[in-house]
Amino acid sequence: CGVFGIYLPGGEVAQITYYGLYALQHRGQESAGIAVADGKEIRLHKGMGLVPAVFQDKDLQSLKGYIACGHVRYSTTGASSPINAQPLVFRYAKGMLAVAHNGNLVNAYELRKNLTARGSLFQSTIDTEVIINLLARHSQGGIEDAVHKTMIDLKGSYSLVIMTQDKLLGVRDPHGIRPLCLGRLGDGYVIASESCALDTVGATFLRDVEPGEVVVIDENGLHSRQALPPQKQTCIFEYIYFARPDSRIDGFGVNWCRRQMGRQLAREAPRDVDVVISVPDSGTAAARGYAEELGLPFEEGLMKNRYIGRTFIQPSQALRELAVRLKLNPIISVVKDKRLVLVDDSIVRGTTSRRIVKMLREAGAKEIHLLISSPPILHPCYYGIDTSERSELIAAQKSVEEIAQYIGVDSLHYLSLEGLLAVFQADVNQGFCTACFNGQYPVPIPPEAGKHILE
Ligand code: 5GP
Ligand code: SF4
Ligand code: MG
Repeated sequence: CGVFGIYLPGGEVAQITYYGLYALQHRGQESAGIAVADGKEIRLHKGMGLVPAVFQDKDLQSLKGYIACGHVRYSTTGASSPINAQPLVFRYAKGMLAVAHNGNLVNAYELRKNLTARGSLFQSTIDTEVIINLLARHSQGGIEDAVHKTMIDLKGSYSLVIMTQDKLLGVRDPHGIRPLCLGRLGDGYVIASESCALDTVGATFLRDVEPGEVVVIDENGLHSRQALPPQKQTCIFEYIYFARPDSRIDGFGVNWCRRQMGRQLAREAPRDVDVVISVPDSGTAAARGYAEELGLPFEEGLMKNRYIGRTFIQPSQALRELAVRLKLNPIISVVKDKRLVLVDDSIVRGTTSRRIVKMLREAGAKEIHLLISSPPILHPCYYGIDTSERSELIAAQKSVEEIAQYIGVDSLHYLSLEGLLAVFQADVNQGFCTACFNGQYPVPIPPEAGKHILE
């Protein structure tokens, strides 16, 4: 998911949030929502679909106020349906509260069970509703105290934008699994999942929100508190695939990281070929790095239809399969009779790569060497990236050789975990979560976890 928040007295906060969410659209395409506070009330508009489909001019104009909180959704707990769209807005003892959440709690089931046993009602099947309930329950001593107490209860990943009728808060879980950053806009402040959203709205990047930190923006300006001790293990997949290349996360430019991954791939698996191509857009930066390192030409060999979204994010397998064919088409003059290196960022189920390779063969490619700028995905993610049940992960079922055969390539190489970490000059489990590659989960996974656990 993507989250966005702004505090800007006198500003058109709903419109600015709309642009901010537009810049975060790659983080979620299932639903979008904006809540605006004017000091007394919170108003909300949300719906299913892409940002421009959810908001018309009149919707934005009706959202009057000086604080806003927005969300784009990519489902990891709870079905893709209107009731599960965010932000969630509720009335509680101290007024009104809005919450937008990026991440995934691993103890949502247990927390909800305890809450319902004490009489709480739930209308959605998302973990975020557990958070807003806890905030309300802990609200006695004010919102900051409520956030602190709630953080102690939560296990898993959460980057949150929280809004009361007169305050804006940004919260990042103690592992900092999902990104969150802070910017300055005029006399106000902006909080966003990624810095590309700050750039888009003309805000200046100030810094990342630290793991375990809570930032609070209100009439007294900005203050912050380290609510829980940091144990930083940011999702490395943000750099490999999820985040936008023009974003900077915790000091690393995403595009730069992907190029380095490509260079590292070239050192691990140089191939004697005519041309390097990528699966756009997620494989492009790594493909350029690969080509640079070996002095090979990089060319656009697959044309992408820019009017369809991320295939992976389509919730059902049937839609995903149709979407691959809609999305990519080979450029025959680039690939015909050529020996190719094809670079992509990851293989999850293997269906995308298999179809692409078939298309390239039909277009006359002579050899295809597939290079993947991440290690094999062997374990599911429980922290907010929808990388499937183990049974659907092709690398958990087949050897590299078998995968090469299934996909139909002449050779296949995955970036090593050491090679990936070398890009960041990091050691295993130091600073980054790599659980989907090595199974070492920074937050233990209870037996009740998974996408449909609250249904
Ligand atoms: P698959 O192997 O399942 O057919 O798809 C892999 C492709 O899906 C890659 O090109 C990757 O860029 C894309 N993709 C889209 N969303 C995700 C995601 O959340 N995780 C992973 N690993 N790949 C994704
Ligand atoms: Fe990211 Fe993988 Fe960790 Fe999930 S398991 S948070 S995708 S590194
Ligand atoms: Mg891709």
